[in-house]
Amino acid sequence: MNGTMDIMKKYGCDAVIAITPSNTFYLSGYESSNCTILLTDDKSYFFTDMRYLEEAKSCIGDRFEVCLGGINEIAEIVKTLRISALGVEESVSHIEYKALEKLFEGLKLIAVDDAFKELRAVKSEREISLIKQAQVVTDTAFKEILPFIKEGVSEIEIAARLEYIILKNGCELAFDSIVAFGDNGSKPHAHRSERTLKRGEFVTMDFGAKYRGYCSDMTRTVALGTVDERKARAYNAVLEANKLAAKAIKPGEKCCDIDAVARNYLAKFSLDKYFAHSLGHSVGVDIHEMPAFSPRCDAVLKPGMIITVEPGVYLEGDFGLRIEDMALVTENGSENLTHSDKNLIVL
Ligand code: ZN
Ligand code: ZN
Repeated sequence: MNGTMDIMKKYGCDAVIAITPSNTFYLSGYESSNCTILLTDDKSYFFTDMRYLEEAKSCIGDRFEVCLGGINEIAEIVKTLRISALGVEESVSHIEYKALEKLFEGLKLIAVDDAFKELRAVKSEREISLIKQAQVVTDTAFKEILPFIKEGVSEIEIAARLEYIILKNGCELAFDSIVAFGDNGSKPHAHRSERTLKRGEFVTMDFGAKYRGYCSDMTRTVALGTVDERKARAYNAVLEANKLAAKAIKPGEKCCDIDAVARNYLAKFSLDKYFAHSLGHSVGVDIHEMPAFSPRCDAVLKPGMIITVEPGVYLEGDFGLRIEDMALVTENGSENLTHSDKNLIVL
C-alpha cells in the first residue's frame, strides 16, 4: 500500500506500525485522533476506539481490518503472525519508542528513519488534485479580501475575514493566518494584533486552506497607497528572486541550489542578510513537510513534489515582505499552483 512494501523491503522488516496522526491519515485516508496502523505483507490493520470505529469501518473497511484497540492488541497480532522484525515510523518520540521496545520484547524493532517522509514527499495524482483544490480556495480568499484592505482596518479583522472566506468555501484552515501591517511585517511569523493600517504601508498575508486533509500555503504582500522607493525596490527584488528560483526548479536539481538562486539574487541588492529563513518547504498532509528549499537540504527534486517558493526580506522595526507560491515539480520543470497576481498590488 502506498509504497510501504518498499519500506519493508528496504529496511528488512516483516511489518510496519504507524502511530502519528499525519502518517495514519496518509496511509488510510481516514482522519482520527487515535489510531495505530499495522501493515504486513498481506494485510493492513487499523486500530482505533469506539468514537471512530463505525465510521472507520464504513470509510476504509474495504482496505483495512478495522479493529477496536491499540498497541497492546497489535502486540498480540504480531505474536500470532510470528513477525520477527517490526518497522517503527520515525516520528514517534523517544519515550514512545522505549515503551514499544518493552512491549515487543524479543522482537527486532527497526526505526524506519525517514521512510515515511520520503514516501510522502512525492505526491500521487489524487494528492496533487486535492492540494490544487485547496489552493483554488486560497486564491479566492486573496481576491475577495482585497476590497476590505482599507485605512484603519486591523490585522485581526483582515485575518478573521480571510479565514471566514476559506471556511465558507468548504475548507478548513491549513494553519493560523498571518496578517502583518507595516513594521509588524518585519517579523516573518508575526502574531496578528489590533494594529491598524496606514497609507504607504505593506500588508503581508500568509494563509492557506486545507481540503480533505491536504494543505495549501501562499503569501502575498500588497500596499495601501504608494510605497516609498526603498520598499518598491525591495518588493521588485523579492519578486524577481521568487521568479528566478521557480524557473530553476526541475527534477534532478538539489533543494539547496534552488534556495541559493533566490539568496544570491537578493545579495546583488544587499538584501540577502534580511532573508531570514529558508526559501521553501514541502506541503501535503502537514503544512511543513520534507524536503525543503533550505541551504542545508541536499535532497534531489523529483516529479510530484510540491514545495513552496517564498523569498522575503525583513528589516527590523521598519518593514517586511514575502511572496509565496507553491510549485509542483513536473517532468521537465515546475508548475505554479498559485494563480494570484504577484506584481505589487497598490490599493
Ligand atoms: Zn505560508
Ligand atoms: Zn510556507
